[in-house]
Amino acid sequence: MSDVRLRFAPSPTGYLHIGGLRTALYNFLYAKQNGGKFLLRIEDTDRTRYVEGAIENLLHELSWAGITVDEGVVLDEEGKPVSKGDCKPYIQSERVEKGIYNKYIDKLLEEDKAYYCFCTQERLDKLREQQKADGKVPRYDGLCRGISLEEAKKRVAAGESHVIRMKLPANKDITFHDAIKGNVTINTNDMDDQVLIKSDGFPTYHFAVVVDDHEMGITHVVRGDEWLPSTPKHVYLYEAFGWEAPEYVHLPTVLSKSGKKLSKRTGDVSVGDFREMGYLPEGLINYLALVGWSPETNEEILSLDELIKQFSFDRVSKSGGVFDKEKLDWVNGHY
Ligand code: GLU
Repeated sequence: MSDVRLRFAPSPTGYLHIGGLRTALYNFLYAKQNGGKFLLRIEDTDRTRYVEGAIENLLHELSWAGITVDEGVVLDEEGKPVSKGDCKPYIQSERVEKGIYNKYIDKLLEEDKAYYCFCTQERLDKLREQQKADGKVPRYDGLCRGISLEEAKKRVAAGESHVIRMKLPANKDITFHDAIKGNVTINTNDMDDQVLIKSDGFPTYHFAVVVDDHEMGITHVVRGDEWLPSTPKHVYLYEAFGWEAPEYVHLPTVLSKSGKKLSKRTGDVSVGDFREMGYLPEGLINYLALVGWSPETNEEILSLDELIKQFSFDRVSKSGGVFDKEKLDWVNGHY
């Protein structure tokens, strides 16, 4: 299984937090266990949420934690993020600049699997309000679906503001298997014609993630389960392109002891805070592996090499893992 390729694909919207480090760790453990590669891609297509210094922080904390990147974004000698590997670049905004997404969106447009939409924000807001008032789930009503590609291209050339949306077929079941959640099926009648290219010309996360995971040969997508509702859109795109979808593993969220989603308000969540408080990388990694996963032996002190040997998605718990600082202190005390 040497062609196993997994990736951690954070958005640089803040400093690396505990949940993100656990996601990176599970990807890393599975890749190493199978003699595969661990990639790091930066997903920065949402320019409004970009935080200065976040990429450097992510790379610094991962390397402190002992999670080495085989391919993707790494820090050069001067501490600057650079791309390393055959699918360069690995920062999505740089991929936009290189025009990587254009040929893929053109293909979907030519094959009538995507369409230009010229609806104004005002119209979309009104539509949403009306649908909500009618007790319906807000969804695009497909007004621009009927505009021919020829006509649309003329309007685009004339400078009309637009987005590009996926053209979902009516009444089609989209099914995929998730290693933790099992089989998931949703009908396209319950889905929206997702925007793929925004009015600023940038791809949305949904479009870029599929193109990039395909180009980068990703075999397993392991990410937080907040992305589960997005996955049918991605599976539709894989089908539209005629590509094989990766295996999906959606991890339950890391929760605080009170059962709430871990957040800044519930205490220390940034990896840097733990580093600064003097926690050892081995202790933090050992403990985080156990948040939502347990080895068959019930051992609790495991080195990174042991974790690589023993890790399996079968033993990831279906409910959210609980972050317990006392337990972390206990594990950390063994290093
Ligand atoms: N860029 C997404 C995030 O920041 C990752 C989603 C994915 O792994 O597909 O959480």
